[in-house]
Amino acid sequence: MKVTRRQFLKVTGATAASFALVDLGFNLQATASAVKELRIKNVTPVPTVCPYCASGCGLVVYSERDAEGKFIRLLSVHGDPDNPINQGGACSKGAAMFNLREIYDEHGEQIVNPKRVQKPLYRAPGTDKWLEKDWDWMLDQIAQRVKETRDKSFIHKETIADGSEIIVNRTERIASIGGSGLDNEECYLLSKLMRALGVVYLETQARI
Ligand code: SF4
Repeated sequence: MKVTRRQFLKVTGATAASFALVDLGFNLQATASAVKELRIKNVTPVPTVCPYCASGCGLVVYSERDAEGKFIRLLSVHGDPDNPINQGGACSKGAAMFNLREIYDEHGEQIVNPKRVQKPLYRAPGTDKWLEKDWDWMLDQIAQRVKETRDKSFIHKETIADGSEIIVNRTERIASIGGSGLDNEECYLLSKLMRALGVVYLETQARI
């Protein structure tokens, strides 16, 4: 068998390292299980869906929690190996999802990503300024505007080719777009709500 220089160094290096540790009296089996335990101590893996694109890859978010289960810090985000779509993989964008929430400063302290928008922002017509608003204000605005727009644009009946009238009950001034972050039940509820309002332009960026 032909052994390359690179293979030779790899094999002899690994073997020498193992012998050296055993010679020094380390119990490698115990060390391995201790490392495994340390790696998962107080760590909670939570499966989720990547929010970025239509592939809807499954990710696992690892976070450290205290004894009461309270969130302490985000540790890492990986592709979910049990997810049939991506089978543990994640593209560079999904793999960088960690930055969506928090980053570490130069001293290793965890801080909230300064680029992350954490409060609803509102830009009034005719201005380029974004104002921070609370969710109550924002949800009231959305509800009022949906009602106003629907009332103004609602089409009850339409005349068809043979001249007869049919009931259509729709609005063409509101559209709804969902994303791969929505699960089946959320999509179902969203489409029910939109259909009940008479919204006919329903879309999603997910394509799976
Ligand atoms: S990991 Fe990449 S490919 Fe998968 S859903 Fe996220 S952005 Fe899309």
